[in-house]
Parts: sequence; structure tokens; C-alpha cells
Amino acid sequence: MKTITHKEFGVLLSQNSYKNDIPSSGHFELTPLCNLDCKMCYVHLQDSSVRKKMLTGKQWISIMEEAVNHGMTGVLLTGGEALTHPDFWMIYEYLIQKGVEIRLKSNGILLNKENVERLSKYPPAGIDISLYGCDSESYMTVTGKDVYDIVSENVKRCIDTGFNIRLMITPSAYMMPWTDRVMEYAKSFGVPVVVNTLLIDAYEESGREKADFDLPVEELLRIRKKSNELFPPKYMPKEEEERLYGKVTKRPDISEKGLYCSAGRTCFAVCWDGAMLPCLSFPRDIICKYPLVDGFETAWKQINQAVKNYEVPKKCHSCEYNTKCHYCPTQHGKYSSNNQCDAKVCEFWQRLYDWHDKLKED
Ligand code: SF4
Ligand code: SF4
Ligand code: SF4
Repeated sequence: MKTITHKEFGVLLSQNSYKNDIPSSGHFELTPLCNLDCKMCYVHLQDSSVRKKMLTGKQWISIMEEAVNHGMTGVLLTGGEALTHPDFWMIYEYLIQKGVEIRLKSNGILLNKENVERLSKYPPAGIDISLYGCDSESYMTVTGKDVYDIVSENVKRCIDTGFNIRLMITPSAYMMPWTDRVMEYAKSFGVPVVVNTLLIDAYEESGREKADFDLPVEELLRIRKKSNELFPPKYMPKEEEERLYGKVTKRPDISEKGLYCSAGRTCFAVCWDGAMLPCLSFPRDIICKYPLVDGFETAWKQINQAVKNYEVPKKCHSCEYNTKCHYCPTQHGKYSSNNQCDAKVCEFWQRLYDWHDKLKED
């Protein structure tokens, strides 16, 4: 019998899904509620009416069941804090029983002994744990709670249990005095670390403004450089890349319509209130459907069509960076509903590409 690696399977799956419009990957924002209160959080809502609008475990499972019937094989469970959803285990065990590959995103507080033992019976494919500080003071400042010791202990517990862990860092103005130390602290665990240098617009109802926690482009670039030093990117050998993805001789020109990424092509997201988007945080005024109302198939087809028909900003067509830069509506936030670019996002990417080019020359 011919066997292939998990990676080869993943590449084939995503290529086939892209070609045939199959929603093979779903991101589920189970709840906007959280046991932390990070000042830069785009999702955390506190209004008591939220509880009434949240989907129950049964509603989540009915969407997931439809998704599985349409080809979903992998999920990301996120929030808020996904583990605080009252029916988290019902949802988790349903997915396991269906053979769906699960990735879990958590702030680490609830990865205690009891929950880790329960997870380890049917371990997730991976857990992304967000780190918000490197000591009590930084945790208090960024998240409003001193949970440094709890999170540190739980990260170690997950590593010792043998879970596939990634540590996620999202620098913001609040983390600024400690950003380098947080990255160094993350490195000390010896597991993969992802540093996300672009913040996105907060939900309007969260009462937060991106401008309050955003970082200047200079600082974003500095963090990017530091993270590249601490966590040098591992590039796949060229032969391996060509074997898996085929030979790429030239990136296609920007098409009049359509995005290049997987959003709405092989992936979809369902937010805490049941809204389906091409990916989490994708601007709702471009496209937003409700699978519990419209049915999964109709919602997916409309999302898929909207992404294929999305008109990339005219500016991108003549931009000298357009063979490297891929327009992302989520990053360009409110500008993207008018098919425009956010100048600050463009500046960040242009300067980052210049820096990368210079690195290659040196
Ligand atoms: S842990 Fe995550 S979801 Fe919770 S408040 Fe902080 S950023 Fe928001
Ligand atoms: S830098 Fe801006 S204008 Fe240029 S391709 Fe990227 S998003 Fe488009
Ligand atoms: S965040 Fe941007 S690049 Fe990523 S999937 Fe969404 S639209 Fe595509």
C-alpha cells in the first residue's frame, strides 16, 4: 500500500479543496467571553446580553455536522477563551468522535491538571497558547490579572504531557516595555513560537479602538527583526518545496478579482454569534452569512463566491511590491469594504520586504 506523510496529505487536501471549493478547515470562535481582560483584545465582550446570544453546544455541533458532511477535516477552536464555553467538552468530544483534527487556542489558564488529563485521552493535533507577559507586572498590565505563575506552570504541564505546543505572542502598546523579554521567555520553553506583528480592528461592541493599542511601524519592524533573530525562520529546501507544491516559475499577476489566500476557498470561520466569514475578523461588511439561518451549504457557497469576486484595490495593480505582497482585507480593516488600502499596513509590508531584500544582499 502506498503511504504518504501527514504533510503531503495536508498539501494534497488543500490543493484539492481549493480546486473544488471544499470547506476543509473551519475556525470556530466558541465564545467572546474570557477569564482575562486584555486591553488590546479585539473580541472580548463583557455585556451580560452576550450570554443570551451565544450558541449552545448543540447549535455548534449542528453547524459542525453540516461542515463535516461538506468535507471539513480540521478545526481551530478559539474564543475569547474556548475552554470557558459551558459545552466545550461536548463539542470537543463530538469532533474527536468524527475524526476531525483539532487545534485549540487558549490563554493557558485552564490548562490545569484536570483538563490536561481529559485532553490527553484524545489529544488535540496542537495547542496554541498565548503569552502576554514575562512576569507578574507585565501580566497585570496587559491582561488585568496576575496569572504569570499559573500560565507558566500550565505551559510546562502541556509540554511534559507531550502535547504539540506553539506559544503565540501578540505585541501591543501595552506590552511594549516587556516585548523583548516576553519573546526571550517564550524561547526558554524550547517549543515553536509565533510572533504576530499585525493587530486587527476590535469588534465595535468591545468598546476598544485599535489606535489605542497599535504600535508605530518602526517598533513593529524592530520586533519583527528581533523575533527573526530569536526564532530564525526555517525554510523548506527548494527540492522538497518543488516536490510538494510543484515548480513555481512565476507568481501569477494580480487578477482583477479574487484573493490568493485560503479564506473562503478552503477555510471558513464561524464567530461566537453564529456569523460565517471567510476567516476570523474578515470585515463583515464585505460578506457575512448565518449557517443556522441560511443553511451551511448556502452560507458557504455565498462566502466562496464573495471571495472569488472580491476586487483587489486598484492601487495594488500598479504597486511595485505586488509580486510579494498579498492584499489581505482583514489587515486593511475598514478600508477593505471600499476596496482600498490602509497606508500604514502598506508601509509596514513595503519596509519589511525592503529589509528582507537587503538581508539577502548582505
Ligand atoms: S486572553 Fe485572548 S481572548 Fe482573552 S481577553 Fe486576552 S486577548 Fe482577549
Ligand atoms: S503594499 Fe499595499 S498597494 Fe502594494 S500590493 Fe501590498 S497591499 Fe497592495
Ligand atoms: S487574515 Fe487575510 S490573508 Fe489570512 S486568511 Fe484572512 S484574508 Fe486571507
